[in-house]
Formats: sequence, structure tokens, C-alpha cells
Amino acid sequence: MAAIRLPGMSGSREWVYPQSIDGPYMRLRRVSFFLLHVWLFVAPWVTVNGHPLLQIDIPARRVFLVGSVFTPSDSLLLALLLFFLAFSLFFFTALFGRIWCGYACPQTVFLETWIRPLEILIEGDRSQRKRRDGQPLSFDRIWRKAVKWSAFALVAFLLSMSMVSLFAGARPLWTGEASGGAYAMVGFLTLAWYADFTWFREQFCIYLCPYARFQSALTDDETLLVSYDEARGEPRGPKRGPEGGCISCQKCVVVCPQGIDIRDGFQLECIQCARCIDACESVMARFDQPTLVRYSSIAADRGARWRKIRPRTVVYAGLLMALIGAMGTIVTTRLPFEATVNRTPGSLYSLDADGYVRNTYLLHVTNKEPDAEPSTFEVRLEGLEGAEVTMPALTLEAEESRTVPLVVRLADEESRARTIPFRVVLGSRQGTLVMPTTFKTAGALQEDR
Ligand code: SF4
Ligand code: SF4
Repeated sequence: MAAIRLPGMSGSREWVYPQSIDGPYMRLRRVSFFLLHVWLFVAPWVTVNGHPLLQIDIPARRVFLVGSVFTPSDSLLLALLLFFLAFSLFFFTALFGRIWCGYACPQTVFLETWIRPLEILIEGDRSQRKRRDGQPLSFDRIWRKAVKWSAFALVAFLLSMSMVSLFAGARPLWTGEASGGAYAMVGFLTLAWYADFTWFREQFCIYLCPYARFQSALTDDETLLVSYDEARGEPRGPKRGPEGGCISCQKCVVVCPQGIDIRDGFQLECIQCARCIDACESVMARFDQPTLVRYSSIAADRGARWRKIRPRTVVYAGLLMALIGAMGTIVTTRLPFEATVNRTPGSLYSLDADGYVRNTYLLHVTNKEPDAEPSTFEVRLEGLEGAEVTMPALTLEAEESRTVPLVVRLADEESRARTIPFRVVLGSRQGTLVMPTTFKTAGALQEDR
């Protein structure tokens, strides 16, 4: 029977069969993967002050973070946070290269935590998988593929549910009470992850990921990279082990999930997962020699010391400090309520029978504080001597919004300006908010005539 190619083993693509590997860097990466999984699976279920630890509620346009609620009025904070994340990526890339790719990117984290171990469990390690995929279709091959792809589908579904939980909320999503859009997103993500796990894999890093495209612009000669010690390793040959040279065992090549040979020098495909370091370390340890593949920089390879402090890293660090300062100031001074005051549509002012000028405004107040205590609001005016202000009693439950009329009256006098700027001061036990606005007088009518 002729060999039948299954999806993922056909066409011109050279399928990568990375061999399993263990070592210090793999153990370090597993710690990172574990912490990120704890964050993904546990965070959506944890509540602080009755709200999710983290939830980005897009339909309600609010973000819950560690017991606080952020709304569109906090968009400056959101913009600063995005800048902070971008510059953090620039800073760590300048220092440690593609540390994100190797230790924290979901693509790497999910492949290393779920997909490769499942593949090894069901189909065996590199040589068995390669051998099986080259064989004619058989019952043994079919059931293994069926079980593997079913397991991948289940993993894709669970990961997608957890990811969407950060937006739709874990409880509503897992109990079937979330919106149709949330489940549609779960379906889309499940299909995307499934396609990635079964077919796309390393091609995502090579052809699709934008970070891989521009990361070379973020690095310099001082950036730490996974690289081969050519000076010690070459010329390579099977007998060079005792002298510390490369014995051409190919171990660093067969463990590489990107299908490259690190001995060929820096390559864009390299995600700096350090699997090849662990591989070479295990090989060279047999000869009591240090690994030939290690973290180094171009400058260090030329004999220079690794400089962490250099213009690029200083600028990034300065920007990060400034952003932390700005965000800290906003967070510590931000009020847990927001309000706007606007003149009632269609009304400029009116004259009351008792000789007072009346301006009517609409005061919209939102209590953003997530705890259960209701907040009572009071209003006073600044910069409008002798004015009377009346507003209905205003007590808002947590996260409640309400619009109330705000009536301001001022004795009519001819000498008054037609437009008087003043401030509405809204206060509660949570603080005070000052909102500038204007008062229109009868004088305006006379001037307009
Ligand atoms: S060359 Fe080494 S560090 Fe780069 S992707 Fe391959 S195994 Fe990972
Ligand atoms: S693992 Fe080390 S010794 Fe083996 S081929 Fe790679 S660089 Fe050479």
C-alpha cells in the first residue's frame, strides 16, 4: 500500500519533529509557563470587592482590575498602560532579545505545555513520530492521529474558554449565561488554536507574527542572544569533544522547534527558547566541557563585557519610569465617581417671577466604586456669588448612573455680564470633583437686543 500523506505531512513544507529535551532552561521556562497558566485559568475566577481580578467588559465599556473599575473616562490611563507595555517589550528585547517568544508568548507557552507533551505521549518522541508519518496508513497510525487531534481540539477549546473568560466573565461563560458573541468568539478562537496546533505551529512565528519582523530593529550588538561559540566549536568533528569542540551530534538541531541549526549563526526564525542550550549542555557535560550554545551577545563574542547600561536601555528605562510615575499619579488621584454637567438642551436661561435668573443643567453622575456601600452626593457652586443651587437628593448604589436636574438661580442685575463662568463642585465621601461651566443672565438678553 502506498504511503498516504495526512494533513501536516504533505506538500513542500518540511515538517519539524522537535525531540524532547530537559535541562536548566527548560525547567526555568516551565516555571514561567506554570505561572502564566495560573494567571489564565485562575484569575477569571478570583474576585476582589465582588468584582473579577481582571475583566475587560467590552459591551459595558469598563475594565475591572484588582477591585477597581475603569471606564472610558480613564482612557488616558489605558493609553499610558499600552505605552508602558510597548516600552517594556522594547526594553526587555534590547536587554535579553526574544525573551518574550521563548518564555511568555501564548504560542510558545501552549505548544510547550500542552501540544508537544501530548504528541509525545500519543505518538512517541521524534524518531517514532518521523517513522510513523513515513509509513503507509495503518490502524495504529489512524487511531493515534484521531486521539491526538481530538486532544488538541479539547485543549484549544479549554484555552479559548479561559481566554474569553477574561472578557465575558468566567461564571457566565462556563454556566452558559454569556452572550452569543462571547460563544462565537470561543468558537473562532478554538478553530484558530486548533489550526495552529495541528498545522501552523512554527510557521506562525516565521510568517505571521509582527514582533518577529521588527524585533531585529530593537536589538543591538549588546543584546543577549542564543548563539553558538564558533571560536571554540570549530572545526567540528566527531573526535573534538574532549577539546571542547563541536562533535556534530546534531542534538541542538533535532530539539529545535523552529527547524533551524543555531550553528549557522543568528536567524530570524530563532525564538530563543534555549532548547539547543540544554541539548548542547547535556552533550558537552559528557566531556566535562562547557556548552557550545549559550546566551551571549555579538559584543561579548568579540571579547567585550556585556553592557546592560547603554543609551538604548537608558532611554527605555527612563520612559518606563516616567510612565510609571504618570500612571501612579492618575491612579492615586482618580475619583471613584465621574460626572458631567451640561445645560438642558434648548434652554439658555429663564426669568422667574421673583426677579431671579434661572439656568437649568443636567448633572450626570456615575458611582464607579465597586463596593456595596451607596454614595450620597452634594453640590455647591464656586465663583457665582449669591447664587442658589437646588438638586434632588442623590444617592447612588455601586456602579449606578443617574441624571438629575441642577437648577441655579441668581438675582437679576443689569450690571451682570451676559456670560459668567463658574464651577460646579460635586462632593461625596469619596472626594470632590470640580466642573467648570457658565451661567447666562438676563443681561445677555438686553445685550443681544
Ligand atoms: S535555535 Fe535554539 S533557541 Fe533558537 S529556536 Fe532553535 S532551539 Fe530555540
Ligand atoms: S549539540 Fe553541541 S556538540 Fe552537538 S552539534 Fe550542537 S553544538 Fe555541536
